[in-house]
Amino acid sequence: MTFLTGQGISPAPDPTREYIALENHYVAHTYHPLPVVLCEGRGAWVRDVEGREYLDCLAAYSALNFGHGHPALIAAAKEQLDRLTLTSRAFHHDLLGEFARDLAHLVGMDAVLPMNSGAEAVETALKLARAWGYRVKHVPRDQAVILVAHGNFHGRTLSIISFSDDPVARDDFGPYTPGFRSVPYGDARALEAAIDAHTVAVLLEPIQGEAGVIIPPKGYLQAVREVCTRHHVLFIADEIQSGLGRTGRTLACDHENVRPDVVLLGKALGGGIVPLSAVLANWDVMGVLHPGEHGSTFGGNALACAVGLAVVRLLETGEYQDRATVLGRRLARGLAALPGLRAVRSRGLWAGLDVDPAIGTGRQLCEALLRRQVLAKDTHGATIRLSPPLVIDAADVDFLLDALRAALTDLGARS
Ligand SMILES: *Cc1c(COP(=O)(O)O)cnc(C)c1O
Repeated sequence: MTFLTGQGISPAPDPTREYIALENHYVAHTYHPLPVVLCEGRGAWVRDVEGREYLDCLAAYSALNFGHGHPALIAAAKEQLDRLTLTSRAFHHDLLGEFARDLAHLVGMDAVLPMNSGAEAVETALKLARAWGYRVKHVPRDQAVILVAHGNFHGRTLSIISFSDDPVARDDFGPYTPGFRSVPYGDARALEAAIDAHTVAVLLEPIQGEAGVIIPPKGYLQAVREVCTRHHVLFIADEIQSGLGRTGRTLACDHENVRPDVVLLGKALGGGIVPLSAVLANWDVMGVLHPGEHGSTFGGNALACAVGLAVVRLLETGEYQDRATVLGRRLARGLAALPGLRAVRSRGLWAGLDVDPAIGTGRQLCEALLRRQVLAKDTHGATIRLSPPLVIDAADVDFLLDALRAALTDLGARS
């Protein structure tokens, strides 16, 4: 199509470029997205404003574990939209109890504290652990210490970035919240050595997502559990990205049959429709919080509970967990055969690939994948992360592997 401008013929506007210019003009520059503008999604596939289709292998960092537009989740949301969306916790509504019961049963814990974003769930757990430390463990007031791991990612709030070791996330945002100490990830001895009488909790990702899908040595989570029990310290597992089927089990901790004291869920809990996060614990811990000590206007709202309940229903059958296991094996086999990669780590449908710096950066591989109709995201320079929706099928996994091989070859990898 052409447009008459009076100054000769000019080409049709490029919708992608125009949209990006608009966004850059009005939206704060806190992200560096790939140059693609999406407008539709179904299952594992999305479409851009120019009609091109892509396999979504990021799935909003696992928030879309059930894919785009899952019929059961969309139906639950639509039905609830017409009935009741928000009451605040000043009143009861008829879905919170049922949602909390079924989520607690799914995860195997007594009680749920609903929040919205993942960072809020983390903040909530930090408050819960401190209150537990003072009221149950009798740590002197304002002296509680929470241990975290090098390379952690738990969100973007001030307290959370206070114990990040990523300078981009942290520099120029001080002063920082005290009361945290960081130890090497994957080293239970270093963790134990850092524990003293003021330690109230250990906060860990069972697999470090943002760091590049870093899988700790076998036995680490069990050792952490054992150390925490021995020193009367809470083990808080941040399963916001690793949980809800991603790794082939409901929780990543299930791979080592480990039961944390506090489990944090988010991302996929809201079905890719609403922000919904949760802190789960048994009553001996959760019971330390009393009315007025914590809350959120939208936390546990009726719309979110309707979607969350539908998410729990999907996970109760174990079907998605099994899919992640079976298709994860297919993905891992394929990844192992690819050229141009320094390392490949995977568990279930979650993988981190380190690109050989001789052929390019993670960003360059993502750009090459974009041209091959696959969406993925780089992290920490050389790594790319794959977390396709669990509704992906075998043919899609093969499509991804073919696209990866082609994109790596485009960058100059030789098999
Ligand atoms: C994404 C993430 C968070 C933060 O969740 P938001 O909803 O972005 O606040 C916390 N912990 C982990 C492990 C995450 O992957």
